[in-house]
Amino acid sequence: MDDCIFCKIASHEVPSNIVYEDEYAVAFNDLNPQTPVHVLVVPKKHIASIAAAQAEDEQLLGHLLLTVQRVAKALGVEESGYRVITNCGKDACQSVQHLHLHILGGKPMQERMG
Ligand code: 5GP
Ligand code: ZN
Repeated sequence: MDDCIFCKIASHEVPSNIVYEDEYAVAFNDLNPQTPVHVLVVPKKHIASIAAAQAEDEQLLGHLLLTVQRVAKALGVEESGYRVITNCGKDACQSVQHLHLHILGGKPMQERMG
């Protein structure tokens, strides 16, 4: 996707604070962090949201969750815990139309969401 900011970050066309990268995924610090640790894990393949994922993406989706686990460990929030969120569509206020998993951690959070 030519005009997708996360595609551009994933391909290094736009610089970002990348904390992890492999063949299929990249993780980078959120521009506007909501918690002391706020990282976005995105697939290098452009998928607009979880709703747009296909059966062929099954392995990639699993890889993204294991990437979350790996990044959380590397950033030191494995013990204290962290929240993993993906916003999908209008009601969830998805603002970037490229699938991303938020890792939020580094401080105690509110119990409730929504
Ligand atoms: P959403 O609301 O779509 O779930 O989350 C999008 C997230 O992407 C927001 O937390 C926002 O701060 C972050 N974001 C938007 N544009 C950029 C960018 O260019 N670079 C980085 N690092 N984060 C971005
Ligand atoms: Zn994209």
